[in-house]
Amino acid sequence: MDLFEYQGKQYFARYGIPVSPGDVALTPDEVVATADRLGYPVVVKAQVQVGGRGKAGGIKLAGDAAQARAHAEAIIGMDIKGHKVKRVWVEHASDIAREYYASFTLDRGAKKHLAMVSAKGGVEIEQVAEEDPSAIARLHIDPFEGFSPEQARRLVEEAGLDEEARAGATDVLLKLYRCFVEGDADLVEVNPLVLTPDGRVHALDAKVTLDDNAAFRHPEWEELAGVAEMDDRERLARKLGLQYVGLDGYVGVIANGAGLAMSTCDVVNQVGGSPANFLDIGGGASAEVMANALEVITSDPNVRSILVNIFGGITRGEEVANGIVTALARVDITVPMVVRLDGTNAEQGRQILSTVEGEKLVSAASMMEAARTAVELAGVQR
Ligand code: GDP
Ligand code: MN
Repeated sequence: MDLFEYQGKQYFARYGIPVSPGDVALTPDEVVATADRLGYPVVVKAQVQVGGRGKAGGIKLAGDAAQARAHAEAIIGMDIKGHKVKRVWVEHASDIAREYYASFTLDRGAKKHLAMVSAKGGVEIEQVAEEDPSAIARLHIDPFEGFSPEQARRLVEEAGLDEEARAGATDVLLKLYRCFVEGDADLVEVNPLVLTPDGRVHALDAKVTLDDNAAFRHPEWEELAGVAEMDDRERLARKLGLQYVGLDGYVGVIANGAGLAMSTCDVVNQVGGSPANFLDIGGGASAEVMANALEVITSDPNVRSILVNIFGGITRGEEVANGIVTALARVDITVPMVVRLDGTNAEQGRQILSTVEGEKLVSAASMMEAARTAVELAGVQR
C-alpha cells in the first residue's frame, strides 16, 4: 500500500524523523484556517500519489492568507498526471539551504536492504542515476545485522553531504531505517531531505510503501487504507474479497490460484494480447465468487473479452461450470468470454457449459487456444 505524503510524514514522525508541522485540508477555507494557525509562510501541497508535483504546479508557497486561498483554489481539483487532487497538505514553509536524497528499499535479488543517499536531491533520483550515477552512495544492509551509526556516518560522508548537515543526516538515516524495518515498509524515501540555513536537517517530502503482507500486525493501517488511492475496480474487488490487480490491457483474466493467474497473463502476452487484470478467485469457484469476479472485470470499460482459466482440483469442473452458468444469469456480460476448463471432472463441466455456449461463450481445450481465441475475439487493432 502506497501512502500519501501527509500519511508518510505522520509515519515518519512516529519514529522521530523531523518533519514540518502541518495539517490536511479539503477546502480553501480549511487551508486558510490551517495556515493562520501554523503561521506564514506556508506551503500548500497537492496530495496525489505521483512524483513531480512541484513541476506540475501542485506545490506553492504562500506568504499570506490571500495567497494561501488563491493557491488552494488552484490546486484543489487540479489534475496531476491523471490524478485528481482531493486534498492538500499545508505546512509551515521551510527555508532551504540544500536539498538531499535518502531512501531504503528492498533489493530482492541481493536479499538485502539497500540504502541510497545523494547530495543531489530535489530532482528525480532516476534522473540522477542516469546523468551522474556516482552522485548516489549505495549500501547493502544485511537485515540480520542491521544498520549501524558508523555505517550511516560513512554513507553520508561518501554521498558528499555538506559538513554541517552530516550529524543531522546520520541521525535521520538511523531513524528512517527503524521506520523502514519496524514499520514494515518496502520503501521509505525522502526527497528532498533538506538542510536549513540554521543547520537543521529535516524531511520535506515522504514516500512510503507499506508491505501489505505485514498488515496483520498493524491494525492501525486500516485507517490509512481508507484513503488509499485505488482505482474503482480495485475498490470493488477489495469489497468482494477478491485478489485483484488492475493492468492496462484489454483481456480480462480470471483464474484459480495466483500461479495459474500469472501464467494466464503470460500466455495472453505470448499470443500478442494484453491482460486487463490479474484476478485469482482462489480455491472455491462457487457461483457467488464467479459472479463477483465477472462483475469486477466487466466494470472495466477497457475489457474487450474475458478469459476464464480454471484447473479443477478440489474445486470440481461441474461446480465451476454451474458457477459460470449461474453467474451469467446474474451479471450482464456484453463482451465475449472464453472458458478453458481442465482437471477434476472437466468433461462434465464442459458438457454443462455447452448448454450455454454460443456467440458470447466459447469453450477452449487448452490454455494457449483459449488465450488466442480471447485475443482474437477482443478484436483490438494492434
Ligand atoms: P514533488 O515534486 O512531488 O517531489 O514534491 P516535493 O515535496 O518534493 O516538493 C518539490 C519541491 O518544492 C522541493 O524540492 C522544494 O524545492 C520545494 N518545496 C517544497 N516544500 C518547500 C518549503 O517548505 N519551502 C521551500 N522553499 N520550498 C519547498
Ligand atoms: Mn519530492
